[in-house]
Amino acid sequence: MWYNCSMTQRIDVYIEHKHYQINQKYSYLSDEFARIGMRVNVNFNNQKCVAFVVDTHAYDPEEAFPYELKWIEDRIDDEPILNEELLDLGLWMSEMTCTPLISCFQVMVPKALRMSKTSIKPQMEKWLHLEMIPDKVTLKQAPIIEALHNQDLPATQLKEYSGVLTGLIKKGIIRAYLQEKNYLVKDYQAHERPYALSPAQIDALEQIKASSQNVVCLFGKTGSGKTELYLTLAEEAMQDDLQSLIMVPEIALTQQMVDRVTERFGTDVVVYHSHLSDHERYLQYKRIQNNEAKLVVGTRSAVFLPFNKLAMIVLDEEHDSSYKQDNMPFYHTRDIAIKRAEHFNAKVILGSASPSFETFARAQKGVYALVELEDRVKGKLPHIQLVDNPVSSKQRLAKETKALIQEVIDEGKQVVILLNRRGYAPVLQCTECQRTVDCEACDRPLVYHKNDSSMKCHLCGHSEAMPRQCPHCGSTNLRMMGLGTQRVEEELQEAFPTARILRMDRDATQVKHGHQKILDQFNKHEVDILLGTQMIAKGLDNPLVGASIILNVDVALMKTDYRSVEDAFALMLQTAGRSGRGDGEAHVIIQTDLQKHMVYPALLNHDFKRFYVQEMKYRKIAQNPPYTYLINLSLFGKDEQKLYANALHIMQALQDEQIKVLGPSDLGKRIHVYYQRILIKGKDLHYMRKHLMDVLNREVKYHKWDCQIDVNPLKGLE
Ligand SMILES: [Zn+2]
Ligand SMILES: [Zn+2]
Ligand SMILES: [Zn+2]
Repeated sequence: MWYNCSMTQRIDVYIEHKHYQINQKYSYLSDEFARIGMRVNVNFNNQKCVAFVVDTHAYDPEEAFPYELKWIEDRIDDEPILNEELLDLGLWMSEMTCTPLISCFQVMVPKALRMSKTSIKPQMEKWLHLEMIPDKVTLKQAPIIEALHNQDLPATQLKEYSGVLTGLIKKGIIRAYLQEKNYLVKDYQAHERPYALSPAQIDALEQIKASSQNVVCLFGKTGSGKTELYLTLAEEAMQDDLQSLIMVPEIALTQQMVDRVTERFGTDVVVYHSHLSDHERYLQYKRIQNNEAKLVVGTRSAVFLPFNKLAMIVLDEEHDSSYKQDNMPFYHTRDIAIKRAEHFNAKVILGSASPSFETFARAQKGVYALVELEDRVKGKLPHIQLVDNPVSSKQRLAKETKALIQEVIDEGKQVVILLNRRGYAPVLQCTECQRTVDCEACDRPLVYHKNDSSMKCHLCGHSEAMPRQCPHCGSTNLRMMGLGTQRVEEELQEAFPTARILRMDRDATQVKHGHQKILDQFNKHEVDILLGTQMIAKGLDNPLVGASIILNVDVALMKTDYRSVEDAFALMLQTAGRSGRGDGEAHVIIQTDLQKHMVYPALLNHDFKRFYVQEMKYRKIAQNPPYTYLINLSLFGKDEQKLYANALHIMQALQDEQIKVLGPSDLGKRIHVYYQRILIKGKDLHYMRKHLMDVLNREVKYHKWDCQIDVNPLKGLE
């Protein structure tokens, strides 16, 4: 096709503004040949702003226009940074999540691409070339000459010899030169599949392939071999020259999946998550765009990669709430995956031992295909036992728990101990007025840190010395509440003085690769007992785990919101599933004071379906999702009174026959900002969205949005 580059265009753009969320198209004139998906600089209200081109037209001077058309300042990109499919996805996401389009584009495009043109200079890197082999090679020079004998290498790979290198470069034996930093494709040794697929796996595979539905709920017990199915499907896609994306809920789990993939295929796999540097992410993005990579393993943000021949997206542990973005746009990765798969006519595999109720309800209704994997590939499902919490408040571990730990360690096996995150943090409470010692800026309790005996706020980072008096009533009777991983660790050390104990919690994993180091140590059996919060429940696949212990789950069972029992069940099932993947018997102990809770009969039998049927009855009675939909609107501001008045006003404006409006509820303050929440409940999500947006557009002045909208929220429902 031939383009007339000097032709004047009228282009439609969305504007990225520092202070306002402008969810409206504007037209500008351009003679720089702008294409859809490129960015341009424009003048908007006397400010230079970046704008996304979403449509282009030939300019017709005769055409009447409601405002005077201005020229763009310049074009930023030489190539569109979003292709048409992704552009459409952004438009769709904007509507689905009630978020301005520009915010959607921002989460879709990696930062390195979002920066202005000048800042994506290629990164240069120093490389070394061997010019000649010297007559005499000293002992210190030998490894360098050896390494460079057949190939050039980046200087970083020889940095331990930098002293000797400088000398060799001076003598002209080695030449250093600069080259654009590139992604090095590594070679791996491919292995045969470790075992043949079981008849159950083959059957499941056939069902997935034969299904007329593109979305498949792969419901399989922990250890039933779901990963092997993903890999087989990915392999078949690769043979057809098609791309696959395998997603995991947490960065800590990517390495494990990458290891499985590289070992299996012997090829380099693209890894994509938020801990990569901007440049690394940019390079991976390009590899996928250029169709150089066929298999991607990644977390949430990988769902926006610019695939062009996609055959399959897998969401492993699809029930995990990490798949939901936790700020605007509050998208769910599952929804994005399904939307993209539609475009490519690709399969979406939603794998879990405890699927989300939304997914399972759709699978039951036949909206998604349901494929089940019943048995474990190897090992046996562990035996689960309920045990009372110790009577003494000083003890955390019950007699039975200690006995089991001893037995398992004596057998040379390992133990996993889960402390439910809710309510585990040690906080100070006043015995007189019952109030906790809170952060001044955030309305939430400060957490005690033993190493420097300080009180810290996990939200804003504020830190202070331990107070002697209650800040509310002045009483000196303060006591420590909450289980605290550190305190359980102490108790374990006392009870098992020779055992090697490792703690994996928020504070231990703050360091880079902290997760990975801990998991490596555990997998190499350098540790006997691994103690941690939610994160240890996911993915550990270690045949030496002989017991899982679950502590402090009662808080979650005493319903704080309609989803907490669903989450608790999934958490317990996952944790139990960590044990018994090798030979011999495995055991699980749950310490609980709620042994009669309805969740346990189903859990003791590892029976998700039974739990689902029971719990859905409550959902129906209370008309909670998946029987209805929710939208969470939170308003915020620095003036508490004004905010409350504003919330009441919006509440009023939202009243409507087709929906239920709940609230406003005071969410307290976070980092000196106050929050009020309004919940909208209804049966017609499309109508709910439209109604909410109509009201906000009418009531919120200047489009300055001091609010957040979360459609289908998973959090903040208490
Ligand atoms: Zn007090
Ligand atoms: Zn704070
Ligand atoms: Zn901390």
